[in-house]
Amino acid sequence: RAKAFGRSRYQVFDQTMRTRMVVRLLLENDLRRVVSSEPCERCQELQLLYQPIVQLETGALAGFEALVRWQHPEKGLLSPKKFISVAEDTGLIIPMSGWILRSACLQMRQWQLLFPDQFPLTMSVNLSSQQFSMPNLPKYIEQILQETDLNPVHLKLEITESMLMENAASIVSVLRQIRALGIQLAIDDFGTGYSSLSYLARFPINTLKIDRSFIHNIDLNSDSREIVKTVHALAHNLGMDVTAEGVETIDQVQHLQTMNCEYGQGYFFSPPLHTEAVTQLLRQQSCNRSSI
Ligand code: C2E
Ligand code: MG
Ligand code: MG
Ligand code: MG
Repeated sequence: RAKAFGRSRYQVFDQTMRTRMVVRLLLENDLRRVVSSEPCERCQELQLLYQPIVQLETGALAGFEALVRWQHPEKGLLSPKKFISVAEDTGLIIPMSGWILRSACLQMRQWQLLFPDQFPLTMSVNLSSQQFSMPNLPKYIEQILQETDLNPVHLKLEITESMLMENAASIVSVLRQIRALGIQLAIDDFGTGYSSLSYLARFPINTLKIDRSFIHNIDLNSDSREIVKTVHALAHNLGMDVTAEGVETIDQVQHLQTMNCEYGQGYFFSPPLHTEAVTQLLRQQSCNRSSI
């Protein structure tokens, strides 16, 4: 009986795996169609949303994070969780990330030309670990900045904590070269890996983004508060500023303010926005400013 049971379980598992694999292959095939070649010219189905990042003390807009979406013809709007890993496994992430960076920089340059009084703002763009295996990532990024005519001070690149841990030795010099271009660097999802802050000291990082799992309980749980407080204090000692991710409530904002946390990002302030909504937001801010 046990044997039969075991076998049937095995078959069920096998079937699930097979289905999952087919779904993945179909998605991969679709992605190949969207991201056909470098430069990624047929990326019309990909779009970027921009989520505001806010200075907590004043509520002023500090910048945006570019977040990719895939408007799939049959499946509808797909979140990055659904397709980034497929893109990474197939190498399609390289042309896709090129498109993302170029589009975000171009958009930022356009907003700067439209609303010069609104700058300095920064555009944060997520990097994928695979981009670090490109032959010359700093040069590649520099070229995109030149093509899009964006001043590097307006660009901030986000790298996750786990990416740093996987590639520690080789990544340091690449990060230094990127910083030398005038681009800023942020550590994303901090707290979800297992690195210590002193380990981070060797990397030339400007901003530490505390993962939203720590922010989630900050108003309910004094342990979470202590963690955020400690991370913030240590980040400061290392010369980094701190962005709180996933800020959803006014209570969370108030706690973060008492900790002197610099920046916040989350649904409390704004969800990720389409280009037109950001343009409207900047226009509105411009009007307010000129009427003062
Ligand atoms: P991330 O870089 O940590 O981005 C923040 C994620 O948190 C975004 O999810 C954002 O929509 C979500 N978020 C923002 N505020 C809140 C909030 O208040 N509450 C909650 N629950 N969530 C909030 P999204 O856009 O689904 O992206 C998920 C992840 O996919 C990103 O995490 C990033 O790791 C990756 N990703 C997104 N865009 C790109 C990209 O252009 N390139 C690469 N390589 N990865 C990307
Ligand atoms: Mg990010
Ligand atoms: Mg993040
Ligand atoms: Mg995250």
